[in-house]
Amino acid sequence: MSAEAKVIDMAYKIQQAEDGNRGLHYEENLLWEKEYSDEPGVDLPEPAGLASRTGVEVRGEIGLPNVSEPQVLRHFVRMSTWNYSIDHGFFPLGSCTMKHNPRLNEKMARLPGHAHIHPAQPESTVQGALKLMYELQSWLSEMTGLPGVCLTPAAGAHGELAGMMTIARAHEQKGNTHKKVVLIPDSAHGTNPATAVMCGFKVRNVPTGDTGCVTVEAFKEALYAESEDAAEVAGMMVTNPNTCGLFEKDIVEIADLLHKAGGYFYCDGANFNALVGKVRPGDFGVDVMHINLHKTFSTPHGGGGPGSGPICTSAELAPYVPVPTVVKKGDSYALEWEEDRPETFGRLKGFQGQFGMFVRALAYMMSHGADGLRQVSEDAVLGANYVLSQLKDDYHAPYAANGPCMHEALLTDKKQKEAGVTTLDIAKALTEYGFHPMTVYFPLVLPGTMLIEPTETESKDSIDRFITVMKGFAADIKAGDTEKFHAFPLSTPRRRLDEVKAARNPVLRWA
Ligand SMILES: *Cc1c(COP(=O)(O)O)cnc(C)c1O
Repeated sequence: MSAEAKVIDMAYKIQQAEDGNRGLHYEENLLWEKEYSDEPGVDLPEPAGLASRTGVEVRGEIGLPNVSEPQVLRHFVRMSTWNYSIDHGFFPLGSCTMKHNPRLNEKMARLPGHAHIHPAQPESTVQGALKLMYELQSWLSEMTGLPGVCLTPAAGAHGELAGMMTIARAHEQKGNTHKKVVLIPDSAHGTNPATAVMCGFKVRNVPTGDTGCVTVEAFKEALYAESEDAAEVAGMMVTNPNTCGLFEKDIVEIADLLHKAGGYFYCDGANFNALVGKVRPGDFGVDVMHINLHKTFSTPHGGGGPGSGPICTSAELAPYVPVPTVVKKGDSYALEWEEDRPETFGRLKGFQGQFGMFVRALAYMMSHGADGLRQVSEDAVLGANYVLSQLKDDYHAPYAANGPCMHEALLTDKKQKEAGVTTLDIAKALTEYGFHPMTVYFPLVLPGTMLIEPTETESKDSIDRFITVMKGFAADIKAGDTEKFHAFPLSTPRRRLDEVKAARNPVLRWA
């Protein structure tokens, strides 16, 4: 073993010992399965030999577990740790922006004036809440350079639906019934083509080039594939920065070509964390985009709470977005509904959207300020490039030669696969070592991809631990110590699950 390999090997072992966080700690049955029938919970047991004095038939066994309050509490507290979360540790799930949710946001959302109001209250009694929504609209509009904002969509995919329905509505109002095709690069998130199809469009694929980006040539080829003027093209859905973690360098030229053909540019804004305060999507030709408040603006997500996917649009598309939006009239604020906005495509959601998420997102924005938000994206990009620079020799880094990445680093298992170890094995090994795996096998542009997004909220120390473990894996695999990688995770209560079977034949009832 070389000296360098020895150092890595030691650090790798220390990492295991220091964290001690291997797999998931607890394993216990459901309360229902516990035999507590002899132990009183809150109520004392029925005294023996007493006849019912109510005159009705005595209630039979109803099968509730007989457990005390501390037993219930401990059971659920332990259970709450079974799922790995951002509050447990490093969670580098690419494209998902698993950043720390500052507790200040939670505190603001729990203020009685925010938490105890009802969406059906008269507007005059919730002026503060409407003002908050109006200010959030203004921040989003300022950051995106897009003046139309609709806060209602409940998630990123819901925002995509809102955005594409807005585009469909605009074409409908203009009599563009022939515009039925939407161009989508093959690096796109699966929700993009799904959304386009749900809105009645046909999807045309744009291949990603060797650089990980869409080239003008490839775009032109797709745009004019069926007709000289691309008359049938309604728009395109492009994620920027894209899911390879790269800024689409030719995006202005591509957007111009699309606009000349009368199409609208939908930008999937899930990766906005890399751009905030640096680039306004409205300036690179975007007509409508969604923003994942639960990614970029730190509201909880994954089992942690409802999402929120507001959309921002150009002035041209603003009349068509779903209702309601908040407007300022003199000194007061009001919601505008169908009566006020005759060109809207209608309502997409009950009431005004996820108000608690609006509070959290605005608290996050205001506590950072404009300069702080710019720093967020700079640090997010710096963190990802640090990971890339440290791991690009141990793992195949397909685009590293072309320059820095944005806020996520893309690797593949090309080198490890030669030794029979795959991306799946590496992800399972990370679980064993106490990390949430990165995003795996996405994007689909290359085999065995690993998309790593550390986010700006991780310390160098935690990123270094991850790098050390990843380097350790690569060194072990290179040295031929590969057997264990097919067995990981070893310390979790469940080992390798049949994920395909679980998805295809979900068992939704516990019996
Ligand atoms: C997360 C994500 C979405 C979907 O957002 P949800 O809130 O999960 O519906 C869409 N596109 C990309 C690129 C994403 O990363």
